[in-house]
Amino acid sequence: MSSIGSNLQEVKRRLATACIAAGRRPDEVALLAVSKTQGPEAVRAAFAAGQRDFGENYVQEALDKIAALAEPALAWHLIGPLQSNKTRPVAEAFAWVHSVDRLKLAQRLAEQRPADLPPLQLCLQVNISGEASKSGCEPADLPALAHAVAALPAARVRLRGLMAIPAPGSGVAPFRALRGLLHQLQREGLPLDTLSMGMSDDLETAVAEGSTLVRIGTAIFGSRNT
Ligand SMILES: *Cc1c(COP(=O)(O)O)cnc(C)c1O
Repeated sequence: MSSIGSNLQEVKRRLATACIAAGRRPDEVALLAVSKTQGPEAVRAAFAAGQRDFGENYVQEALDKIAALAEPALAWHLIGPLQSNKTRPVAEAFAWVHSVDRLKLAQRLAEQRPADLPPLQLCLQVNISGEASKSGCEPADLPALAHAVAALPAARVRLRGLMAIPAPGSGVAPFRALRGLLHQLQREGLPLDTLSMGMSDDLETAVAEGSTLVRIGTAIFGSRNT
């Protein structure tokens, strides 16, 4: 088996162990393989090992890879910052966008999502650690943004939940805070089911705090190409 295949197995084993420790079923947490900076051959190796969902940060790099692979069974997730003038190819080529942090982006994605595709699945990125340099909406602005995005045409975009990238080493607090924000929106009537949180170094913490989708790069593909 390729090292990517065996890494993937090891990550699934960590995930299953974390779920059991948290009293959760292993199938409650989806695994997104983050393939940024990795070439198409690395994605092919993970695909051969059964992986179907892949996360990318940079729009142009992702579009090149999607075209090179030309594999309709793959589901592509944008997890990096998105500029308003790049929304059209994203609306046309991706299945999910985790990094929506302002209404204008979601409106453009809804307008540009081709009618013959299933709705684009959206998460709102929250600046949960309050870092000045980080993208994501402020927690105080989240309720208004979430209700506005949820009101966009459901045939084009569907709001699924929240995403965050906590500052490294900040422990459980940011994960717990993101879960609290999701629960608040659920109580306000939004049908959300996704908490996109947890990376290679903190997937166990994220699963213990209710993550439903972990985004794993280096633990699957090794260190990133620069
Ligand atoms: C790169 C990246 C990941 C994966 O990080 P690893 O530490 O390599 O697992 C997850 N989420 C986002 C938003 C990223 O940019």
